[in-house]
Amino acid sequence: SRPVVQGALEAKRVSLRYPDEEREALRDLSLSIQPGEKVALLGRVGSGKSTLNKLLLGLYQPTAGALSLDGVDIRQFDPLELRRHIGYVPQDVDLFFGSLRENIVAGGGSEGVDDEALLKACEISGLAPLVNSHPQGVDLPVGEHGQRLSGGQRQAVAIARAVVNDPQILLLDEPTSAMDHASEEAFKKRLAEYAEAKTLVVVTHRTSLLALVERIVVIDAGKVVADGPKDKV
Ligand code: ATP
Ligand code: MG
Repeated sequence: SRPVVQGALEAKRVSLRYPDEEREALRDLSLSIQPGEKVALLGRVGSGKSTLNKLLLGLYQPTAGALSLDGVDIRQFDPLELRRHIGYVPQDVDLFFGSLRENIVAGGGSEGVDDEALLKACEISGLAPLVNSHPQGVDLPVGEHGQRLSGGQRQAVAIARAVVNDPQILLLDEPTSAMDHASEEAFKKRLAEYAEAKTLVVVTHRTSLLALVERIVVIDAGKVVADGPKDKV
């Protein structure tokens, strides 16, 4: 059994300077997201969106400020616990040599994932057709770095990985960048239903994904420059 998480996320006056970099990637950034809220994080290339995601996941420590989950400083969480609560789809997917199953349950304390959860993750992510048509099913080999899969399929594996533990928070960094239009539309429908009661933060350059959110936050040069309801930003 795991502790119940409401799904509130907050960044309080957060700054981050990467090692050996002169400029700060995030500058005194504050952002508060309520449980169950659906938010799009927009901003141009290099504005700091992915960096903010990585801080929320505890992958980097801020140079100043703090991040919290349900009001608790994320440093209080064990990294594996944090990954159980926050399903994360990174912008750059990296798979390892092994089966699809191994790649989906990898990382983030997914031990003891049962077949039902695995198949549900395949449904949501769009991997089901691949799994159903392959003689080895979910045990199909993905090859070195997942090279036996297409780019869109690799991205779907990352999505399956993010939802397989049924986390309360979803942090998706360009989750449909490798999808064709029809796949993206179908995924949006499944995600909207799946994430209905969850906190959803989606980073995207694709306006079509804005259908999923009610709030837009715009980041520029490491700062929040706009934040409000979708129809007003
Ligand atoms: P994109 O839309 O292209 O994905 P982004 O908003 O996600 O951009 P980030 O990846 O957060 O941008 O990068 C913000 C800034 O931090 C950029 O100036 C980038 O060069 C820098 N940066 C990102 N990662 C690193 C790193 N590991 N080391 C040094 N600098 C980094
Ligand atoms: Mg990015």
